[in-house]
Amino acid sequence: MKHATVINIQKYSVHDGPGIRTTVFFKGCPLKCWWCHNPESQNPGHEIMFFEERCTNCGVCIKRCPQKAVEVQEKYPKTDESKCTLCGKCTDFCPNSAKEYVGKDITAQELMKEIIKDEVFYDESGGGVTFSGGEPLVHIDFLNEILKLCRERGIHTTLDTSGFVKWEKLEEIADKIDLFLYDIKLMNNERHLKYTGVENVNILRNLKKLSDKGCNIYIRMPIISGINDDDENINEAIKFVSSLNILQVNLLPYHKMGMDKYRRLKMQYNLTGMEKPSNERMEEIKGKFKNSGIKIEIGG
Ligand code: SF4
Ligand code: SF4
Repeated sequence: MKHATVINIQKYSVHDGPGIRTTVFFKGCPLKCWWCHNPESQNPGHEIMFFEERCTNCGVCIKRCPQKAVEVQEKYPKTDESKCTLCGKCTDFCPNSAKEYVGKDITAQELMKEIIKDEVFYDESGGGVTFSGGEPLVHIDFLNEILKLCRERGIHTTLDTSGFVKWEKLEEIADKIDLFLYDIKLMNNERHLKYTGVENVNILRNLKKLSDKGCNIYIRMPIISGINDDDENINEAIKFVSSLNILQVNLLPYHKMGMDKYRRLKMQYNLTGMEKPSNERMEEIKGKFKNSGIKIEIGG
């Protein structure tokens, strides 16, 4: 039986496709976007998040750790990662929920049981299930299996993807996806590489192929001031999108809600001090898309 690692199965989502949805957040992503607000989704393995503001330095995790991986430090306990086996005991026993386990392995059948619990909401609202992350295509075999189960049951499926995958893999599942939420970020390849860690050539090529295939596509474009909101990038994006057959574009203004998670995971955050783009600039960008005849919304 195939397993995938998920972070969360979020019920009653209304921003990840039409109607009321269950959104499955997979763990693992080949991109490392500077503005990522789900950094816990990047590493494919299990992890532990540490909320230092909740920790009272009670020492329970030190006593409970079977590997003696946790040591007393000046203010907070410190984990020696070379000894830690990620058994999760310290998270189970912490009386203050200062440690949180991230990652749960699940089979397609187990996930399906969760998905169908809310079938009545999908039917009434025109919703369904959205596979998000991280990058769901990292778990392509699992995705194939769960998509087949959803199709058999008539559940609408949406894939939220960066599109960074070999075309053959994407083509394999494309016909089983009812709607794509497909990200574009930066049109210039060097800038894309700098800010996401990967090149954009395959991403844009795959998007064009999905469009040629007649797939239903919403394009999502995060807007980050000084990184991709310049006229040159916006104009290039509009030119490219105009050549496609897509349903709409959603502009997603940068927000810093994921910032604290970087500290909790001991990851570096490169956008400290970054503010969300102004409403005026968002409206300007929206207007540019609209003037080119593209259906566009801010948010979503
Ligand atoms: S058990 Fe929790 S509160 Fe106590 S020291 Fe460990 S992390 Fe801190
Ligand atoms: S996850 Fe397990 S091995 Fe790692 S620090 Fe916690 S109790 Fe120790």
